[in-house]
Amino acid sequence: MNVYVSCDMEGATGVVGFDQVEPGSAGYSFGRAMQRHDLLAVVHAALEAGATRILVNDAHWNMNNLDPTGLPTSVELCSGSQKVLSMVEGADECQVAFFVCYHAMAGTEKAVTDHTMSRIVHDVRLNGRRVGETGINAAVCGFLGVPVALVTGDQAVCLEAESLLGEALVTCAVKEGRSASAARLLPPERTASLLREATCRAMERALSGKAPLFSLQSPYRMELEFSRSSQCDAACIVPGSRRFSGRGLMAENEDMLELYRWFRSAVNLAESA
Ligand SMILES: [Zn+2]
Repeated sequence: MNVYVSCDMEGATGVVGFDQVEPGSAGYSFGRAMQRHDLLAVVHAALEAGATRILVNDAHWNMNNLDPTGLPTSVELCSGSQKVLSMVEGADECQVAFFVCYHAMAGTEKAVTDHTMSRIVHDVRLNGRRVGETGINAAVCGFLGVPVALVTGDQAVCLEAESLLGEALVTCAVKEGRSASAARLLPPERTASLLREATCRAMERALSGKAPLFSLQSPYRMELEFSRSSQCDAACIVPGSRRFSGRGLMAENEDMLELYRWFRSAVNLAESA
């Protein structure tokens, strides 16, 4: 079984704030080391539990945080940007997806670095349902026929993922958020064993065909609200956009991959405002 790992950073063991995940900031080397720590626990366990090949997609910031040196030989790394499918680039090559070091959607209470793709995104709804990166990326995977078996991060993203994907999903909380910039932590030795154990259970579900597929009803509709109207002013020139409020833009498409590209185009333009 080919396993896909979309690997973010904010949800890694020990990470409690944006200053630990932004390249150039003082804490970045710590965040980067912890992202690798959690990823290694997951890939080693997945290989022991029956994965034949693992494609890791570095899904954080410029997406070149992970060093391929020392990765198991059956692991390949998709590194750098730009990538058309961004956080889920290459997911179509695999039979199951894991979301590792993920964080909760924008506006979540007691969630370390809660945001959705960008700190200027206030809210996203997909077919009427509030979603964050977990939901958006799971919907793209679902459209590609790829179930999501494992989500790791803080307790808030685990709850968010469970409410979206149901009990068949395996989650692993490596910390408990106290706020957007504080958390109760576990030592890496302990989270490594939690991650290994969760990965084994996720592999069992994947191998027995029980991992949840997040498939939505077409046409897919996304409502995207920014923090400020000026950001919406910049984004609303993306073809297919319809503005529904000062801050809000929506689009509809029968192809989830096209809608994902619309979303990313709109966010990228809004960031320039
Ligand atoms: Zn990230």
